[in-house]
Amino acid sequence: MIYFDNSATTPCLPEAGAEALKYMTSGYFNPAAAYAPAVQTEREVNAARAAILSEISREPGDLIFTSCGTESNNTAIFGSLAAMRGKGRVIASGVEHPSVYEAAIALREQGYDVVFAPVDETGKVRLDGLAALINGETRLVSIMHVNNESGAVNDISAIRGLIKKASPDCLLHVDGVQAFMKMPPVPCDLYSVSGHKLHAPKGVGALYVKKGVKIRPYLVGGGQETGLRSGTTNVPGIMAFSFAVHDFAAHRDEYVSGMAEVKNRLYSNLSSIRDVKLNGPEPGSGAPHILNVSFMGVRGEVLLNALSERGLMVSTGSACAAHKRGRNRILNAMGILGERQDGAIRFSFSHFNTVAEADAAAGLIEEQVNLLRRFRRR
Ligand code: PLP
Repeated sequence: MIYFDNSATTPCLPEAGAEALKYMTSGYFNPAAAYAPAVQTEREVNAARAAILSEISREPGDLIFTSCGTESNNTAIFGSLAAMRGKGRVIASGVEHPSVYEAAIALREQGYDVVFAPVDETGKVRLDGLAALINGETRLVSIMHVNNESGAVNDISAIRGLIKKASPDCLLHVDGVQAFMKMPPVPCDLYSVSGHKLHAPKGVGALYVKKGVKIRPYLVGGGQETGLRSGTTNVPGIMAFSFAVHDFAAHRDEYVSGMAEVKNRLYSNLSSIRDVKLNGPEPGSGAPHILNVSFMGVRGEVLLNALSERGLMVSTGSACAAHKRGRNRILNAMGILGERQDGAIRFSFSHFNTVAEADAAAGLIEEQVNLLRRFRRR
């Protein structure tokens, strides 16, 4: 099997899995307990916290462990606004992941003035469009670091500059689920990450909270995570996440350049197929691991199924839009419509992928695209 759907999830590193097992079977203590082995477990969790935190931000702050990127995004958005007085403007981009986009829609129903910033044809937030939306009443701006469908990388430093100029008390939340470890840290108030996108198991995520930023907890109870996220600490998940982060940090250049090489090779191979269009930034300038292209005249989900039957796993982008024509919110916002939207396929890579896989995948795709186009013409 060739797995090119690493933005959906990644295989867990066997060593990270072993680490999780260790903390389930021998180091299973509840870090909130008072006896020595539990205190040791708490120390290990806090060392993991510090290690992950140091990869997210150079500015002082805290890290709250959560269950996933979705929870981190929800906590950042609802939790920070709940800690502020009054309702004001909230800005997100139109291409955010549903865990941000749907949160913004829910805020609108609660009476917030929610507006969506425009993006260019690659999926990158337009700074002029965003600047025009920020006013003195703006409480929160939530913009993703890397877009999960197109691989566009937002200029978070510039966005932070715009916000500080127009509305100094406004917070900036960044969904870093697709960017963490692959892109350099960015200045912001809140930053969300997720373990299973980085070769840790599912069920663990984290939220960076800059020093001084207030969050009203969403889960209340035993007061874990300094009272910001109650619930018995997911020690196995956290320790496995920390392992995966250490592993990535130790091989960062090799991993990132390896993914980019696979992506560039696949794109260069696919470019020789007739009527293929790139949806997103030029491969050299986007995130190293995401490539989105349209095969004109082919339905993306039909191609996806044909490839899956032959052992190549890809995605049509947004799983929730997979069965509705013309309903891909992200591609709509990028102005990618009609036949081009219907034929879009997202490929996403990890350091486990190889150039040989890119070559084999391209051969398979060319064969299936030609076949499907021939059927369509009859
Ligand atoms: N944000 C982005 C950009 C994502 O790609 C995803 C998952 O696909 C999420 C958030 C949600 O992360 P999780 O699956 O950990 O809830």
